Amino acid sequence: MKVNDVSLTISAVREAQYPETDFPEIAFVGRSNVGKSSLINNIMQRKKIARTSSVPGKTQTLNFYLLNQSLYFVDVPGFGYAKVSKSDREKFSAMIESYLETRQQLRGVIQLVDSRHEPSDLDVSMYQYLHYYDIPTLVVATKIDKVKKNQWNKVESIQRKAMHLNEAADWLPFSAQDSTGSAEVWDWIENHIN
Ligand code: GDP
Repeated sequence: MKVNDVSLTISAVREAQYPETDFPEIAFVGRSNVGKSSLINNIMQRKKIARTSSVPGKTQTLNFYLLNQSLYFVDVPGFGYAKVSKSDREKFSAMIESYLETRQQLRGVIQLVDSRHEPSDLDVSMYQYLHYYDIPTLVVATKIDKVKKNQWNKVESIQRKAMHLNEAADWLPFSAQDSTGSAEVWDWIENHIN
């Protein structure tokens, strides 16, 4: 899909601020520093619209990016970031859970996992959670340029095993550096919004 225009519609801190449109929404989740903003910017074909989630003390918001006046990307803050107070974290995770469980416009979730490390417990439980709620999920192994090509199969089998992805579960390698996987991520998105 060619992205002709992108704008940040709202950085929401509560549900009442979510856009009141019927446009399909694709959400992006992953641990802080996994490469989520890099992936979002890469596939939006923009340099610096989505900002890194790993800034200490930054307010956590659910960011809605409107693409071509017809589709929202929803950037969910990186989980596992310890510098946010416990009460903020609880409040925010309730908001994210409610978004993921009840948002009618949500068509699918792209879950990012770093290809250089074993999936963490948080990665595993996030996937189990999405699976439990029957939310179509694409697992993306980020920073794949850091892994030799003959090791990509190994990354796939490690992630599939650790996260209990079955044969049919969608998985892709991705690099924001050289755009590996970018077209395939778009194919997945288009299959889920049409
Ligand atoms: P976020 O916290 O998940 O939004 O992560 P960022 O997108 O800010 O990326 C975290 C760090 O990983 C930054 O230093 C990026 O330059 C680096 N990074 C992100 N994507 C890639 C990638 O595809 N390849 C490589 N080599 N580095 C990446």
